[in-house]
Amino acid sequence: MNPWPRAVYLHVPFCLHHCGYCDFTLVARRDHLIPQWFDCLQRELEQHLAQAGTRLPVDTLFIGGGTPTHLSIPQLRQLGALIDRCFELQPGGEYSMEANPDGLELEKLQALRQIGINRLSLGVQSFDDDVLRLLERTHRADGAAEVVRQAAEVLGSVSLDLMFGVPGQTQSSWSASLERAIGLPVVHISTYGLTWEQGTPFYRRQRNGQLQRAEEELERAQYLLAIERLTGAGFEHYEVSNFARSGHQCRHNLVYWHAEEYLAFGPGAARYVQGVRSTNCRSVVKWLRSWAEGQACVEDEECCDAEQRAREAIMLGLRLRRGFSVEEFERRFGVQLSALAGRALEQGLRRGQLELRDGWLRLTEAGLLLADSVTADFL
Ligand code: SF4
Repeated sequence: MNPWPRAVYLHVPFCLHHCGYCDFTLVARRDHLIPQWFDCLQRELEQHLAQAGTRLPVDTLFIGGGTPTHLSIPQLRQLGALIDRCFELQPGGEYSMEANPDGLELEKLQALRQIGINRLSLGVQSFDDDVLRLLERTHRADGAAEVVRQAAEVLGSVSLDLMFGVPGQTQSSWSASLERAIGLPVVHISTYGLTWEQGTPFYRRQRNGQLQRAEEELERAQYLLAIERLTGAGFEHYEVSNFARSGHQCRHNLVYWHAEEYLAFGPGAARYVQGVRSTNCRSVVKWLRSWAEGQACVEDEECCDAEQRAREAIMLGLRLRRGFSVEEFERRFGVQLSALAGRALEQGLRRGQLELRDGWLRLTEAGLLLADSVTADFL
């Protein structure tokens, strides 16, 4: 049996502009590095292929960034051809690409369809131009809505990212963004609270008092409003931050939440293969330099023992609204849940943050609001 994971992530680290809150692995206005990135990516993929000895069958491919659609149409075709040489997406497989509304014209969407993309994840963030300006996003609401409509026509499956907890973003602005998203032909919506990552310009501006964090209470109300509106509109709330129309859950991300293994390529990309988690160098330049000399560039590498794997699976599984089957978990990891994590389990149940029903353990609504800390208790 083929021992390699059947899910692949590939990182495209280029953006038009570096938004002040973003700490992803990327470079902006350095498009001259794109040809070099292609060479290095090819080397990284070829090295893997040499180990695998064959073109690998996969069920999901996810091209993230950065902004993959910042690449030109010929570059996107080149990327598609490179991926095709290495991986064989199985019939019915999911082939996602992250995108920004900027510059996503009809011709580019058609090129994406030609290379096989069948799911587009659009970083719209808001349909309020003031919020978009504050986030330093370069698109505007009306243009984004038009791109969504066109993308749905060309590619079928469109997902939106929306952000709450943005300074100055009122509940009515958030509500209007949700309503506008619901009115568009999208099958999946991810909602995230703005995070203040150390080292970003936003973090510094907040420290200097130039930007005000949203009140926790407001952020919570915005999250609850998203749940109410999106589920009311027929989206299934299937993961802490994710909502999907029936049959449109993100299969690639489900691999992460099911604690299954996945391959990853490109600067900053993180993989989980044969029990080892590792992350490529987050510095794009360092990653390029290293691969230019034919050397892999890995920053963190951690070999997870059986206990760690089981604990992570609990943490990830609880992010799913249906939770996980305790019986299945115990069979898979060969350990009793109560023996492994009795204290965290008992505490979560006692506090009403977890519930155990019909053999499934999941977060309650109260637990959902504290998802990060309740799930971290199992690590
Ligand atoms: S477009 Fe997206 S990936 Fe690029 S800098 Fe902005 S938030 Fe980050």
